[in-house]
Amino acid sequence: MGEARGHPGTRFVHVNRPGHAHPLDYLDTAQDVEVFLDAIAGTRAIALDTEGASFHKYLDRIYLLQLSVDTRSAIIDPLPIGTPAKLGALLEDPKVEVVFHDADYDLRLLHQDYGWRVTNIFDTRIAAQLLGLTAFGLAALLERYFGLKLDKKHQRADWSMRPLTADMLDYAAQDTRHLLELRDLLRNELERKGRWAWAAEEFQRLEGTRWEPEDPGSAFLKMKGARDLTRRELARLKELVAWRDGIAKQLDRSTFRVMANEVLFEAARAGATTREQLAAIKGMPRGMLERQHAEILAAIAAGDAVAEADLPRFPKAAKWDKDPDFDAKVAKLKTVRDEAAKRLELDTGVLCARDRLEAVARRVPRTREELAEVKELRRWQAEEMGAEFIKALAEFAPRAAGDKAPAARATTPAAGATTPAAGGDGSPKASAASSAARVTSPSRPPSDSPYKDG
Ligand SMILES: [Zn+2]
Repeated sequence: MGEARGHPGTRFVHVNRPGHAHPLDYLDTAQDVEVFLDAIAGTRAIALDTEGASFHKYLDRIYLLQLSVDTRSAIIDPLPIGTPAKLGALLEDPKVEVVFHDADYDLRLLHQDYGWRVTNIFDTRIAAQLLGLTAFGLAALLERYFGLKLDKKHQRADWSMRPLTADMLDYAAQDTRHLLELRDLLRNELERKGRWAWAAEEFQRLEGTRWEPEDPGSAFLKMKGARDLTRRELARLKELVAWRDGIAKQLDRSTFRVMANEVLFEAARAGATTREQLAAIKGMPRGMLERQHAEILAAIAAGDAVAEADLPRFPKAAKWDKDPDFDAKVAKLKTVRDEAAKRLELDTGVLCARDRLEAVARRVPRTREELAEVKELRRWQAEEMGAEFIKALAEFAPRAAGDKAPAARATTPAAGATTPAAGGDGSPKASAASSAARVTSPSRPPSDSPYKDG
Protein backbone atom coordinates (compact mmCIF):
# COMPACT_ATOMS: atom_id res chain seq x y z
CA MET A 1 0.00 0.00 0.00
CA GLY A 2 1.71 3.16 -1.22
CA GLU A 3 -0.14 6.06 0.29
CA ALA A 4 -0.28 6.98 3.91
CA ARG A 5 -3.95 7.49 4.58
CA GLY A 6 -6.70 7.08 7.11
CA HIS A 7 -6.30 8.04 10.74
CA PRO A 8 -3.83 10.85 11.04
CA GLY A 9 -1.43 10.17 13.83
CA THR A 10 -1.82 6.42 13.68
CA ARG A 11 0.91 5.64 11.20
CA PHE A 12 4.32 4.78 12.50
CA VAL A 13 7.55 3.50 11.23
CA HIS A 14 9.16 1.04 13.56
CA VAL A 15 12.62 -0.25 13.47
CA ASN A 16 12.63 -3.98 13.80
CA ARG A 17 16.31 -4.56 13.36
CA PRO A 18 18.93 -1.94 12.76
CA GLY A 19 18.40 -0.53 9.30
CA HIS A 20 15.21 -2.50 8.77
CA ALA A 21 12.02 -0.46 8.62
CA HIS A 22 8.79 -2.24 9.45
CA PRO A 23 5.81 -0.04 8.61
CA LEU A 24 2.46 -0.32 10.32
CA ASP A 25 -0.84 0.41 8.59
CA TYR A 26 -4.10 1.12 10.33
CA LEU A 27 -6.95 -0.21 8.22
CA ASP A 28 -10.52 0.78 8.95
CA THR A 29 -12.19 0.54 5.58
CA ALA A 30 -12.94 -2.56 3.57
CA GLN A 31 -11.01 -1.08 0.67
CA ASP A 32 -7.87 -0.49 2.71
CA VAL A 33 -7.98 -4.05 3.94
CA GLU A 34 -8.37 -5.26 0.39
CA VAL A 35 -5.41 -3.24 -0.83
CA PHE A 36 -3.24 -4.41 2.02
CA LEU A 37 -4.13 -8.07 1.54
CA ASP A 38 -3.48 -7.81 -2.18
CA ALA A 39 -0.07 -6.39 -1.38
CA ILE A 40 0.81 -9.36 0.82
CA ALA A 41 -0.78 -12.02 -1.38
CA GLY A 42 1.65 -14.85 -1.90
CA THR A 43 2.96 -14.65 1.64
CA ARG A 44 3.63 -18.05 3.16
CA ALA A 45 3.55 -16.98 6.80
CA ILE A 46 1.45 -14.49 8.69
CA ALA A 47 1.47 -13.58 12.36
CA LEU A 48 -1.91 -12.86 13.87
CA ASP A 49 -3.39 -11.64 17.12
CA THR A 50 -6.82 -10.43 18.13
CA GLU A 51 -8.01 -8.20 20.91
CA GLY A 52 -11.32 -8.81 22.61
CA ALA A 53 -12.81 -7.11 25.64
CA SER A 54 -13.78 -9.93 27.97
CA PHE A 55 -12.60 -7.91 30.93
CA HIS A 56 -15.27 -5.35 30.10
CA LYS A 57 -18.02 -7.00 28.09
CA TYR A 58 -20.58 -9.75 28.68
CA LEU A 59 -20.21 -11.31 25.27
CA ASP A 60 -16.74 -11.04 23.87
CA ARG A 61 -15.99 -10.40 20.25
CA ILE A 62 -13.04 -9.24 18.17
CA TYR A 63 -12.39 -5.54 18.47
CA LEU A 64 -9.02 -5.48 16.77
CA LEU A 65 -6.97 -7.73 14.49
CA GLN A 66 -3.20 -7.36 14.34
CA LEU A 67 -1.19 -9.03 11.63
CA SER A 68 2.38 -9.07 10.43
CA VAL A 69 4.27 -10.49 7.51
CA ASP A 70 8.03 -10.30 7.45
CA THR A 71 8.33 -6.74 6.19
CA ARG A 72 5.21 -4.99 7.43
CA SER A 73 2.35 -5.01 9.90
CA ALA A 74 -1.24 -3.88 9.93
CA ILE A 75 -4.04 -3.37 12.39
CA ILE A 76 -7.56 -3.97 11.16
CA ASP A 77 -10.46 -2.32 12.91
CA PRO A 78 -13.31 -4.74 12.25
CA LEU A 79 -16.01 -2.50 13.73
CA PRO A 80 -16.64 -0.33 10.65
CA ILE A 81 -15.76 -3.18 8.26
CA GLY A 82 -17.51 -6.32 9.43
CA THR A 83 -15.99 -9.61 8.34
CA PRO A 84 -12.71 -9.08 6.45
CA ALA A 85 -13.45 -12.01 4.17
CA LYS A 86 -10.19 -11.95 2.23
CA LEU A 87 -8.25 -12.35 5.44
CA GLY A 88 -10.29 -15.43 6.25
CA ALA A 89 -9.35 -16.99 2.93
CA LEU A 90 -5.70 -16.39 3.74
CA LEU A 91 -5.96 -17.89 7.21
CA GLU A 92 -7.81 -20.94 5.92
CA ASP A 93 -5.29 -21.52 3.14
CA PRO A 94 -3.31 -24.60 4.22
CA LYS A 95 -0.27 -23.30 2.36
CA VAL A 96 -0.11 -20.24 4.63
CA GLU A 97 1.28 -20.77 8.10
CA VAL A 98 -0.50 -18.69 10.72
CA VAL A 99 1.59 -17.84 13.75
CA PHE A 100 -0.02 -16.96 17.08
CA HIS A 101 1.19 -16.58 20.59
CA ASP A 102 -1.37 -18.56 22.57
CA ALA A 103 -3.79 -19.34 19.76
CA ASP A 104 -6.60 -20.90 21.74
CA TYR A 105 -8.67 -17.85 22.58
CA ASP A 106 -8.01 -16.16 19.24
CA LEU A 107 -9.18 -19.27 17.40
CA ARG A 108 -12.39 -19.35 19.43
CA LEU A 109 -13.16 -15.72 18.69
CA LEU A 110 -12.27 -16.04 14.99
CA HIS A 111 -14.63 -18.96 14.70
CA GLN A 112 -17.37 -17.38 16.76
CA ASP A 113 -17.32 -14.01 14.98
CA TYR A 114 -16.41 -14.96 11.44
CA GLY A 115 -16.87 -18.72 11.21
CA TRP A 116 -13.24 -19.18 10.20
CA ARG A 117 -11.33 -22.38 10.75
CA VAL A 118 -7.69 -21.48 10.71
CA THR A 119 -5.31 -24.15 9.41
CA ASN A 120 -1.53 -24.63 9.46
CA ILE A 121 -1.02 -23.06 12.88
CA PHE A 122 2.18 -22.35 14.77
CA ASP A 123 1.80 -21.37 18.41
CA THR A 124 4.86 -19.75 19.95
CA ARG A 125 3.56 -20.35 23.49
CA ILE A 126 3.24 -24.07 22.98
CA ALA A 127 6.59 -24.19 21.18
CA ALA A 128 8.26 -22.45 24.12
CA GLN A 129 6.62 -24.80 26.61
CA LEU A 130 7.71 -27.86 24.67
CA LEU A 131 11.26 -26.52 24.77
CA GLY A 132 10.98 -26.50 28.54
CA LEU A 133 10.92 -22.73 28.98
CA THR A 134 9.12 -21.78 32.17
CA ALA A 135 8.74 -18.12 31.22
CA PHE A 136 6.69 -18.53 28.06
CA GLY A 137 4.63 -15.34 28.02
CA LEU A 138 5.19 -13.21 24.92
CA ALA A 139 6.98 -10.49 26.86
CA ALA A 140 9.36 -12.99 28.40
CA LEU A 141 10.11 -14.59 25.03
CA LEU A 142 10.75 -11.28 23.28
CA GLU A 143 13.11 -10.32 26.04
CA ARG A 144 14.88 -13.66 25.97
CA TYR A 145 15.34 -13.86 22.22
CA PHE A 146 15.55 -10.22 21.15
CA GLY A 147 16.37 -8.31 24.32
CA LEU A 148 13.15 -6.34 23.88
CA LYS A 149 11.26 -4.96 26.83
CA LEU A 150 7.54 -4.61 26.15
CA ASP A 151 5.58 -1.85 27.67
CA LYS A 152 2.67 -3.20 29.70
CA LYS A 153 0.73 -0.03 30.24
CA HIS A 154 -2.26 -0.93 28.08
CA GLN A 155 -2.46 -4.48 29.32
CA ARG A 156 -6.04 -4.07 30.45
CA ALA A 157 -7.10 -1.57 27.86
CA ASP A 158 -10.70 -1.60 26.76
CA TRP A 159 -10.28 -2.45 23.09
CA SER A 160 -13.96 -1.84 22.42
CA MET A 161 -13.58 1.91 22.91
CA ARG A 162 -13.20 4.27 19.96
CA PRO A 163 -11.25 6.15 18.94
CA LEU A 164 -8.21 4.16 19.98
CA THR A 165 -5.22 6.34 20.68
CA ALA A 166 -2.06 6.15 18.59
CA ASP A 167 -0.33 4.88 21.69
CA MET A 168 -2.79 2.01 22.08
CA LEU A 169 -2.42 0.98 18.44
CA ASP A 170 1.33 1.04 18.74
CA TYR A 171 1.04 -1.13 21.80
CA ALA A 172 -1.31 -3.58 20.06
CA ALA A 173 1.05 -3.88 17.10
CA GLN A 174 3.80 -5.23 19.37
CA ASP A 175 1.85 -8.45 19.68
CA THR A 176 2.65 -9.63 16.16
CA ARG A 177 5.60 -7.54 14.98
CA HIS A 178 8.27 -10.00 16.12
CA LEU A 179 6.30 -13.22 16.03
CA LEU A 180 7.61 -14.54 12.71
CA GLU A 181 11.22 -14.13 13.76
CA LEU A 182 10.40 -15.71 17.09
CA ARG A 183 8.75 -18.60 15.29
CA ASP A 184 11.91 -19.24 13.25
CA LEU A 185 14.08 -19.38 16.35
CA LEU A 186 11.68 -21.65 18.22
CA ARG A 187 11.25 -23.96 15.28
CA ASN A 188 15.02 -24.32 14.89
CA GLU A 189 15.37 -25.10 18.55
CA LEU A 190 12.57 -27.66 18.42
CA GLU A 191 14.26 -29.38 15.51
CA ARG A 192 17.61 -29.36 17.25
CA LYS A 193 16.05 -31.01 20.28
CA GLY A 194 14.13 -33.53 18.19
CA ARG A 195 10.79 -32.10 19.32
CA TRP A 196 9.43 -30.61 16.13
CA ALA A 197 7.11 -33.61 15.67
CA TRP A 198 5.68 -32.96 19.15
CA ALA A 199 4.89 -29.38 18.28
CA ALA A 200 3.48 -30.28 14.88
CA GLU A 201 1.07 -32.71 16.52
CA GLU A 202 -0.03 -30.14 19.07
CA PHE A 203 -0.49 -27.47 16.40
CA GLN A 204 -2.59 -29.80 14.31
CA ARG A 205 -4.84 -30.43 17.27
CA LEU A 206 -5.49 -26.70 17.51
CA GLU A 207 -7.28 -26.72 14.17
CA GLY A 208 -10.98 -26.74 14.71
CA THR A 209 -10.79 -25.06 18.13
CA ARG A 210 -14.13 -23.43 18.87
CA TRP A 211 -16.48 -22.58 21.71
CA GLU A 212 -18.43 -25.47 23.11
CA PRO A 213 -21.66 -23.97 24.38
CA GLU A 214 -22.17 -24.59 28.06
CA ASP A 215 -25.50 -25.57 29.50
CA PRO A 216 -26.57 -22.49 31.47
CA GLY A 217 -28.62 -24.71 33.76
CA SER A 218 -25.58 -26.56 35.09
CA ALA A 219 -22.69 -24.15 34.52
CA PHE A 220 -22.84 -23.00 38.16
CA LEU A 221 -21.74 -26.49 39.23
CA LYS A 222 -18.41 -25.88 37.51
CA MET A 223 -17.64 -22.74 39.48
CA LYS A 224 -14.58 -23.02 41.65
CA GLY A 225 -15.68 -23.84 45.19
CA ALA A 226 -19.14 -25.12 44.24
CA ARG A 227 -18.29 -28.54 45.64
CA ASP A 228 -17.86 -27.06 49.09
CA LEU A 229 -21.48 -25.87 49.22
CA THR A 230 -24.45 -27.75 50.62
CA ARG A 231 -27.20 -28.65 48.18
CA ARG A 232 -29.40 -25.87 49.56
CA GLU A 233 -26.59 -23.36 49.08
CA LEU A 234 -26.14 -24.69 45.56
CA ALA A 235 -29.81 -24.03 44.85
CA ARG A 236 -29.34 -20.43 45.94
CA LEU A 237 -26.14 -20.12 43.93
CA LYS A 238 -27.93 -21.33 40.82
CA GLU A 239 -30.55 -18.61 41.16
CA LEU A 240 -27.98 -15.94 41.96
CA VAL A 241 -25.89 -16.89 38.93
CA ALA A 242 -28.95 -16.69 36.68
CA TRP A 243 -29.76 -13.28 38.13
CA ARG A 244 -26.20 -12.04 37.59
CA ASP A 245 -26.15 -13.32 34.02
CA GLY A 246 -29.33 -11.41 33.26
CA ILE A 247 -27.87 -8.15 34.56
CA ALA A 248 -24.54 -8.68 32.83
CA LYS A 249 -26.26 -9.34 29.55
CA GLN A 250 -28.48 -6.31 29.93
CA LEU A 251 -25.51 -4.05 30.70
CA ASP A 252 -23.15 -5.86 28.30
CA ARG A 253 -20.67 -6.06 31.12
CA SER A 254 -18.52 -9.00 32.15
CA THR A 255 -20.18 -10.97 34.92
CA PHE A 256 -17.41 -10.54 37.48
CA ARG A 257 -17.77 -6.78 37.11
CA VAL A 258 -21.44 -7.07 37.99
CA MET A 259 -20.66 -9.12 41.08
CA ALA A 260 -17.62 -11.17 42.03
CA ASN A 261 -17.99 -14.93 42.37
CA GLU A 262 -16.90 -14.77 46.02
CA VAL A 263 -19.77 -12.41 46.78
CA LEU A 264 -22.27 -14.73 45.11
CA PHE A 265 -20.91 -17.65 47.12
CA GLU A 266 -21.10 -15.68 50.33
CA ALA A 267 -24.68 -14.68 49.57
CA ALA A 268 -25.53 -18.31 48.83
CA ARG A 269 -24.00 -19.45 52.10
CA ALA A 270 -25.51 -16.68 54.20
CA GLY A 271 -29.01 -17.19 52.78
CA ALA A 272 -29.80 -13.57 53.49
CA THR A 273 -33.47 -12.61 53.83
CA THR A 274 -33.05 -8.90 54.54
CA ARG A 275 -31.28 -6.00 52.96
CA GLU A 276 -29.20 -5.55 56.12
CA GLN A 277 -27.93 -9.11 55.88
CA LEU A 278 -26.98 -8.52 52.26
CA ALA A 279 -25.18 -5.33 53.19
CA ALA A 280 -23.09 -7.28 55.70
CA ILE A 281 -21.60 -9.46 52.94
CA LYS A 282 -18.01 -8.53 52.24
CA GLY A 283 -17.49 -7.09 48.79
CA MET A 284 -21.19 -6.52 48.08
CA PRO A 285 -21.17 -3.58 45.64
CA ARG A 286 -23.02 -0.64 47.19
CA GLY A 287 -24.68 0.48 44.00
CA MET A 288 -25.92 -3.03 43.34
CA LEU A 289 -27.29 -3.23 46.86
CA GLU A 290 -29.04 0.08 46.37
CA ARG A 291 -30.76 -0.80 43.11
CA GLN A 292 -30.94 -4.58 43.12
CA HIS A 293 -31.38 -5.78 46.70
CA ALA A 294 -34.96 -6.88 46.09
CA GLU A 295 -33.92 -9.00 43.10
CA ILE A 296 -30.97 -10.53 44.95
CA LEU A 297 -33.18 -11.42 47.89
CA ALA A 298 -35.74 -12.87 45.48
CA ALA A 299 -33.07 -15.07 43.92
CA ILE A 300 -32.01 -16.37 47.32
CA ALA A 301 -35.64 -16.95 48.26
CA ALA A 302 -36.18 -18.88 45.03
CA GLY A 303 -33.28 -21.13 46.01
CA ASP A 304 -34.81 -21.60 49.44
CA ALA A 305 -38.15 -22.53 47.86
CA VAL A 306 -36.72 -25.49 45.93
CA ALA A 307 -38.13 -28.74 47.27
CA GLU A 308 -35.68 -31.00 49.08
CA ALA A 309 -35.92 -33.69 46.40
CA ASP A 310 -35.19 -31.21 43.60
CA LEU A 311 -32.07 -29.64 45.06
CA PRO A 312 -29.17 -29.57 42.61
CA ARG A 313 -26.56 -32.28 42.82
CA PHE A 314 -23.33 -33.01 41.03
CA PRO A 315 -23.51 -35.60 38.28
CA LYS A 316 -22.81 -39.10 39.55
CA ALA A 317 -19.20 -40.16 39.45
CA ALA A 318 -18.46 -42.37 36.48
CA LYS A 319 -17.85 -46.07 36.95
CA TRP A 320 -14.07 -45.82 36.79
CA ASP A 321 -14.16 -43.51 39.77
CA LYS A 322 -15.30 -46.48 41.80
CA ASP A 323 -12.34 -48.58 40.70
CA PRO A 324 -10.58 -49.18 44.04
CA ASP A 325 -7.22 -49.32 42.23
CA PHE A 326 -7.77 -46.17 40.23
CA ASP A 327 -5.72 -43.87 42.45
CA ALA A 328 -2.92 -46.41 42.68
CA LYS A 329 -2.83 -46.71 38.90
CA VAL A 330 -2.67 -42.96 38.46
CA ALA A 331 0.09 -42.75 41.06
CA LYS A 332 2.16 -45.33 39.16
CA LEU A 333 1.73 -43.42 35.91
CA LYS A 334 2.57 -40.20 37.66
CA THR A 335 5.90 -41.63 38.80
CA VAL A 336 6.72 -42.53 35.20
CA ARG A 337 5.66 -39.10 34.02
CA ASP A 338 7.62 -37.25 36.69
CA GLU A 339 10.80 -39.16 35.89
CA ALA A 340 10.37 -38.46 32.19
CA ALA A 341 9.79 -34.79 32.96
CA LYS A 342 13.11 -34.67 34.79
CA ARG A 343 14.92 -36.42 31.96
CA LEU A 344 13.37 -34.14 29.31
CA GLU A 345 13.60 -31.01 31.49
CA LEU A 346 9.92 -30.29 30.99
CA ASP A 347 7.18 -29.09 33.26
CA THR A 348 5.15 -32.15 34.32
CA GLY A 349 1.87 -30.55 33.22
CA VAL A 350 3.32 -29.75 29.82
CA LEU A 351 4.68 -33.26 29.39
CA CYS A 352 1.42 -34.97 30.31
CA ALA A 353 -1.42 -33.41 32.27
CA ARG A 354 -3.16 -35.42 34.97
CA ASP A 355 -6.37 -35.90 33.00
CA ARG A 356 -4.37 -37.76 30.35
CA LEU A 357 -2.78 -39.99 32.97
CA GLU A 358 -6.28 -40.73 34.24
CA ALA A 359 -7.40 -41.64 30.75
CA VAL A 360 -4.55 -44.15 30.53
CA ALA A 361 -5.40 -45.50 34.00
CA ARG A 362 -8.99 -46.12 32.90
CA ARG A 363 -7.88 -48.06 29.85
CA VAL A 364 -5.10 -50.17 31.48
CA PRO A 365 -3.42 -50.81 28.12
CA ARG A 366 -1.43 -54.02 27.67
CA THR A 367 0.09 -53.17 24.29
CA ARG A 368 1.16 -50.14 22.28
CA GLU A 369 -1.93 -50.64 20.12
CA GLU A 370 -4.21 -50.46 23.16
CA LEU A 371 -2.37 -47.39 24.36
CA ALA A 372 -2.95 -45.75 20.99
CA GLU A 373 -6.68 -46.12 21.63
CA VAL A 374 -6.42 -43.61 24.46
CA LYS A 375 -7.47 -40.60 22.44
CA GLU A 376 -6.46 -38.08 25.09
CA LEU A 377 -2.84 -39.12 24.85
CA ARG A 378 -0.73 -37.59 22.11
CA ARG A 379 1.37 -39.80 19.87
CA TRP A 380 4.53 -38.07 21.03
CA GLN A 381 3.59 -38.71 24.65
CA ALA A 382 3.00 -42.38 23.88
CA GLU A 383 6.40 -42.52 22.22
CA GLU A 384 8.19 -40.92 25.15
CA MET A 385 6.43 -42.78 27.96
CA GLY A 386 4.23 -45.51 26.48
CA ALA A 387 6.45 -48.50 27.20
CA GLU A 388 6.91 -47.36 30.80
CA PHE A 389 3.18 -46.71 31.20
CA ILE A 390 2.37 -50.25 30.10
CA LYS A 391 4.98 -51.68 32.44
CA ALA A 392 3.72 -49.57 35.34
CA LEU A 393 0.20 -50.95 34.94
CA ALA A 394 1.22 -54.58 34.39
CA GLU A 395 0.51 -55.57 38.00
CA PHE A 396 -3.14 -54.53 37.73
CA ALA A 397 -5.78 -56.90 36.45
CA PRO A 398 -7.11 -56.09 33.00
CA ARG A 399 -10.56 -54.60 32.86
CA ALA A 400 -13.38 -57.15 32.97
CA ALA A 401 -15.02 -57.87 29.64
CA GLY A 402 -17.80 -55.44 28.87
CA ASP A 403 -16.49 -52.92 31.38
CA LYS A 404 -15.98 -50.30 28.77
CA ALA A 405 -14.27 -47.11 29.74
CA PRO A 406 -16.45 -44.09 29.17
CA ALA A 407 -15.66 -42.22 25.98
CA ALA A 408 -14.98 -39.00 27.84
CA ARG A 409 -15.05 -37.92 31.42
CA ALA A 410 -18.09 -36.00 32.45
CA THR A 411 -15.86 -33.37 33.97
CA THR A 412 -13.56 -32.94 30.98
CA PRO A 413 -14.01 -29.34 29.94
CA ALA A 414 -15.03 -29.42 26.33
CA ALA A 415 -13.22 -26.21 25.61
CA GLY A 416 -9.94 -27.41 27.01
CA ALA A 417 -9.99 -30.90 25.62
CA THR A 418 -8.18 -29.88 22.50
CA THR A 419 -5.80 -27.47 24.17
CA PRO A 420 -2.43 -29.00 24.75
CA ALA A 421 0.14 -28.08 27.31
CA ALA A 422 -1.92 -25.38 28.90
CA GLY A 423 0.50 -25.18 31.79
CA GLY A 424 0.20 -25.93 35.46
CA ASP A 425 -1.12 -29.41 35.84
CA GLY A 426 -2.93 -29.13 32.60
CA SER A 427 -5.98 -27.21 33.68
CA PRO A 428 -6.81 -25.49 30.44
CA LYS A 429 -6.93 -21.76 30.47
CA ALA A 430 -10.23 -21.43 28.74
CA SER A 431 -12.08 -23.50 31.31
CA ALA A 432 -10.33 -21.73 34.14
CA ALA A 433 -11.49 -18.55 32.53
CA SER A 434 -15.09 -19.53 32.35
CA SER A 435 -15.24 -20.45 35.99
CA ALA A 436 -13.15 -17.55 37.18
CA ALA A 437 -14.70 -14.69 35.33
CA ARG A 438 -17.94 -15.89 33.89
CA VAL A 439 -20.01 -18.98 34.24
CA THR A 440 -22.14 -19.39 31.20
CA SER A 441 -20.23 -17.55 28.54
CA PRO A 442 -16.76 -17.83 27.12
CA SER A 443 -14.27 -15.46 28.56
CA ARG A 444 -10.61 -14.83 28.94
CA PRO A 445 -9.76 -13.93 32.49
CA PRO A 446 -8.38 -10.46 33.02
CA SER A 447 -5.01 -11.77 34.12
CA ASP A 448 -4.66 -13.94 31.04
CA SER A 449 -2.74 -11.48 28.97
CA PRO A 450 -0.05 -12.52 26.55
CA TYR A 451 2.26 -10.32 28.59
CA LYS A 452 1.94 -12.51 31.60
CA ASP A 453 3.73 -15.75 32.08
CA GLY A 454 1.30 -18.59 32.54
ZN1 LIG B 1 -2.79 -9.09 21.94
